[in-house]
Amino acid sequence: MSARSIATAPAASLAGPAEIQNFLRRRARWARWFFVIVAITATVIALVAGKGEPAALATAGVVVVAMALLTLAAKRRLDATWIGEVVRKEVREIRHRKSDDDIGRRIEHLYLIHVRTDTGARREVSVGQSALERYYTTGERVVKIGGLPMPLKLTSAHPGLCASCGEFLPTDASTCNRCTCPVPDPTRFH
Ligand SMILES: [Zn+2]
Repeated sequence: MSARSIATAPAASLAGPAEIQNFLRRRARWARWFFVIVAITATVIALVAGKGEPAALATAGVVVVAMALLTLAAKRRLDATWIGEVVRKEVREIRHRKSDDDIGRRIEHLYLIHVRTDTGARREVSVGQSALERYYTTGERVVKIGGLPMPLKLTSAHPGLCASCGEFLPTDASTCNRCTCPVPDPTRFH
């Protein structure tokens, strides 16, 4: 549990960059342990199932390295901080083709906002259906805080949305009740 007590005061108790960094460091520690455990498990499985053969160990090694690279690539995207304007909202259909069977074809939706950042870059962020419909508005300015996936509105004092998991929050919440992420004050992340 976080040492931070649940504050009832509004705007003043919202988190700044230092509090968010603390939260991210705590979470990164858990992520590193998780990775170590997965890597050890993969190696043990390879040793047992492959009866100690070098090929099996090499396969486990490749899997672990690939996993590490994918994680690092995702982290680099997540670590970016930027401010910009929502230029477009999009619901994108993704069709999963299951062999030749048309009936078994699964359709999934990606809920995206397209943002033009103040430095002129284009960003495409997956935000979830309810956030896309109820939270983001075209033309509105948002800030994406490094380490947290959900861009937040720059206009309001309390963002009303968790920057980490996308849960809608009451405007007196200082931490998310689902993922325990502190609620940042968006205006302090310029
Ligand atoms: Zn959350």
